[in-house]
Amino acid sequence: MNRFFTDNIQNDQAILGEEDAYHLKNVLRARIGEEFEICDGVAHEYVAELISLDKKSAVLNILSEITVEREPHHRYCICQCIPKGKKTDDVVRHCTELGMSDYFPVISERVNVKNIDEYDKTDRLQRVADEAAKQSKRIKIPTINKPIKFSQLVTTAPQNAIKIIAWEEEHEISLRKALSAVNNDYEVYILVGPEGGLSAEEVALAKENGWISVTLGKRILRTETAPLTLLSAVSYQLEDLE
Ligand code: SAH
Repeated sequence: MNRFFTDNIQNDQAILGEEDAYHLKNVLRARIGEEFEICDGVAHEYVAELISLDKKSAVLNILSEITVEREPHHRYCICQCIPKGKKTDDVVRHCTELGMSDYFPVISERVNVKNIDEYDKTDRLQRVADEAAKQSKRIKIPTINKPIKFSQLVTTAPQNAIKIIAWEEEHEISLRKALSAVNNDYEVYILVGPEGGLSAEEVALAKENGWISVTLGKRILRTETAPLTLLSAVSYQLEDLE
């Protein structure tokens, strides 16, 4: 069943805007009476029946609420030092499928992106997250945050969150060991360096603020591989993937 997101839900009716109305009319060739999944992007999803459709909008009557537990029990915040090119699109897409709730593009010492002060791909990445949430039947759409400086992120992340920084120079602490000491903290922050890696000073600052540096093994993963590895492994450990 095709799925649409809208926060315009009132009196048991969902109203979709022009873009979705176009998709319904011209792509899906939707008919009055046809049923669709409607999701509010935060916590609820419904089955709804199309009752009116024109160029500007579509109106659907909500028939029932779907109560499938699709969201993880933890908030996974992926913090990635901004990689070159369009690698971020794939990281946002796949981490959305894997249950990410927030994405933070981080500006660290070795980020190698031109005009970093003007860097802001928030709108485009939010569209990537919206699409991936729809495709993977997420209820919550991940939030793409504005770029944040490394020192600001590591010093302001919540004290009681699980905060993991993947460091290629870490040889002692494994992810398994880092997670074994964890009780049921709700928020998990995962921080990954750029292609050039993380400096010892950056990792030291993170550790002073409660981050645990972990190794991901003897191989060096690419900056776009490491977040997926971490999110898959952490959610395997903390969620019941069933
Ligand atoms: N320039 C570095 C690689 C950086 S990879 C080098 O060639 O050694 C990009 C990021 O992925 C790293 O900063 C780290 O956050 C993560 N990463 C990759 N492989 C890792 C590993 N084996 N252990 C821990 N973190 C790793």
